Amino acid sequence: MKIIDILNRNEMSLSFEVFPPKVETSFDNVLSAAGKIAMLRPSFMSVTYGAGGGTSEYTLRLSKEIEQKYGVPMLAHLTCISSDKATVHDRIADLKSNGISNIMALRGDIPADMADVDRTKLDYHYAVELIHEIKAAFPDCCIGAACYPEIHPESRNQRDDLRHLKEKVDAGVDFLTTQMVFDNNLFFNFLYKIRDMGITVPVLPGIMPITKANQVERAIKLSGSYMPVRFRTIVDRFGTDDAAMMQAGIAYATDQIIDLYANGITNVHVYSMNKPEVAEGISNNLSSILGREFA
Ligand code: FAD
Repeated sequence: MKIIDILNRNEMSLSFEVFPPKVETSFDNVLSAAGKIAMLRPSFMSVTYGAGGGTSEYTLRLSKEIEQKYGVPMLAHLTCISSDKATVHDRIADLKSNGISNIMALRGDIPADMADVDRTKLDYHYAVELIHEIKAAFPDCCIGAACYPEIHPESRNQRDDLRHLKEKVDAGVDFLTTQMVFDNNLFFNFLYKIRDMGITVPVLPGIMPITKANQVERAIKLSGSYMPVRFRTIVDRFGTDDAAMMQAGIAYATDQIIDLYANGITNVHVYSMNKPEVAEGISNNLSSILGREFA
């Protein structure tokens, strides 16, 4: 099933993200965690693509196994910056022939070992190039792309960042998912700006439940996202108590999601990070709001 059809239903949707293993010996553990999340019957699930392309085969395998076994629509991520055209074309063909009809088209972060490479010589430079190629090779594919309410870290200013975002959407993106946001106002401000520019596709806010104190610095470093004082206070107070921090992190994420739904945002994506207990906690907290039991 195409994810855009789910997003356009105008009903509240909740989706979860998992990441693939790095090595074969971890595949079963990851499959088991992803399976538990799938049993909650989310609207769809996404599977990330390892930086540098190292786990590409697992993204496809995990997506395929979860979709076939649990019937949950899957979104397979695909990055291009560290691949050549032949590899990317093979990946698109593999996804197509394995029945995956949703691709999140990303540039990817520049791997550390490519920092000194002359990027003009690479096959890909920006996600928009990948989007054009997916459109050409797999016209029926539903395509998602990333967006950044707090600006992509490499952008000089928001105006340029939004101009490039519009180019991606005009190339054929069906929906956007945001970088993690911890302050909904930043998401709403961003949404007003892009709607004003004529970007009309569904935009899913990305919610990252922080359930361990040590995730905070990593999340900020990775995303550059603003961490509100209200959340920092929670981490300061409960960060040394694992069970309390888990409960508080799930509650904070739930609160954000309820605020989004209450203000008319129907589709929310949760970075559940292979943690079924987090996905289950959030789902159960929303059961009456979403009108169904999850356990
Ligand atoms: P782009 O859209 O290409 O943008 C990258 C930068 O280039 C931006 O600053 C943009 O403004 C600028 N730019 C774009 N086009 C042009 C142009 N024509 N000229 C000049 N500048 C331009 N990474 C992974 O490795 N695997 C994943 O699975 C993954 N999933 C993600 C999911 C989401 C929802 C998000 C938000 C990020 C994800 N990432 C993932 C991280 C992502 O790969 C990085 O943020 C990466 O640095 C940018 O990818 P992009 O597709 O947004 O790039």
